[in-house]
Amino acid sequence: MHLAWGPDEEAFRAELLAFLDEHTPMEARTRRDFQGCEDGEVIPAWSRAWQATLFDHGWMIPGYPPELGGRDATPVQTLVYLEEMAARGIPRSMHFPGYAIVAPTLLEHGTDEQRALVPAAIRGDTVWCIGMSEPNAGSDLAGLTTRAELDGDDFVVNGQKVWTSYATVAEKCCCYVRTDPHVPKHKGISLLVVDMDTPGIEVRPLRHITGVADFAEVFFTDVRVPRTNLVGAPNDGWRLTQGSLAHERAGLWVEGVARLEQAITGLIDLAHRRGVAGDPVVRRKIAEASSRATSLRALGYKGITSFARQGASPEHSYMKLATSEAGKACFELGMEIQGAYGSVVDEERGEEAGRWALGFLISFANTIAGGTSEIQRNIIAQRVLGLPRS
Ligand SMILES: Cc1cc2nc3c(=O)[nH]c(=O)nc-3n(C[C@H](O)[C@H](O)[C@H](O)COP(=O)(O)OP(=O)(O)OC[C@H]3O[C@@H](n4cnc5c(N)ncnc54)[C@H](O)[C@@H]3O)c2cc1C
Repeated sequence: MHLAWGPDEEAFRAELLAFLDEHTPMEARTRRDFQGCEDGEVIPAWSRAWQATLFDHGWMIPGYPPELGGRDATPVQTLVYLEEMAARGIPRSMHFPGYAIVAPTLLEHGTDEQRALVPAAIRGDTVWCIGMSEPNAGSDLAGLTTRAELDGDDFVVNGQKVWTSYATVAEKCCCYVRTDPHVPKHKGISLLVVDMDTPGIEVRPLRHITGVADFAEVFFTDVRVPRTNLVGAPNDGWRLTQGSLAHERAGLWVEGVARLEQAITGLIDLAHRRGVAGDPVVRRKIAEASSRATSLRALGYKGITSFARQGASPEHSYMKLATSEAGKACFELGMEIQGAYGSVVDEERGEEAGRWALGFLISFANTIAGGTSEIQRNIIAQRVLGLPRS
């Protein structure tokens, strides 16, 4: 069997590559796979300018129309776009909630006024954060307790969010709140758009294991939010969370597989440099990682075919789980190959500026954010395999 892209896709690819050659900033070309935020900047200035350039040229979300930063690309052209960007390691944006989660949610459920916020969210002019998780509501998101009570034309919000990415720099928050505590927990949640400079909001940065502080705790004390900032129907927020998380997962596999393939190329180089490329254990482990990456790419493509034929792709349920866990295993192998030096995180002294140790630490984030690996396994067991709840 011979698989090949059609002439339309190749023309689309050529146009994209010409654009990338001309416009990609040096910082985007040279970003490393383990890199956090430079110089403590949560969203570097170059990435803001780059996101705006992509939007203005219709390359931010190619499947959207030009007024939303796209060029009405087909799903297959979008796949070509995601693959080329991922293969070159070029990020679209350094803050994904606005374009990847908020925009599709507001386009689908928002009022005209809320939909008007979408272009700036995609262009990156407005920084958004997502207020879902709370200290006692992460995997069990429906258990959230941040309350919003109507008082005249305002909701009054009280409670706490945690792990809120970009909250330290965000101008707006898509915040999930409990509006009816007297009904089953999934039925009493609503979604509010909250301006982060509203009095009563306190943001406390959280520093994670790599030293970067790009997420935070957010405290709400008697925060008044106009009633018109409700997205969708009152108490229909759970349905909207399902959409938000689906948007987060869609398309992530392409980047996940590309990151995996880049790590495997790095592992081969590392094994040669350390003189262990002929070691049977190392060879077997790298070969295993490589065959896993190849299978995942094939499964990703099969999912696209399923989606095109039946509007659903059970294959893609596996991808977030499999790529994030395989990525973690690759970086762990990189540390193992280096022996005692493997755990040196220091960018100055660690091999390849601490690529393997830092990459290993960062790789945990992908196995947690957007639904942990355990929760992904539960979803696959119940929804894909039809097994009963445990
Ligand atoms: C990098 C990063 C960015 C994030 N950004 C955001 C953000 O912007 N906004 C936001 O709202 N949240 C964000 N989160 C939070 C993330 O959504 C939660 O961490 C995640 O949903 C897990 O919730 P938790 O941390 O409360 O863990 P818990 O739900 O308390 O889980 C703890 C452990 O128990 C396991 N577990 C829980 N329930 C089950 C079960 N039923 N079956 C089997 N095992 C189970 C979990 O898998 C996990 O290992 C982010 C997290 C990370 C790592």
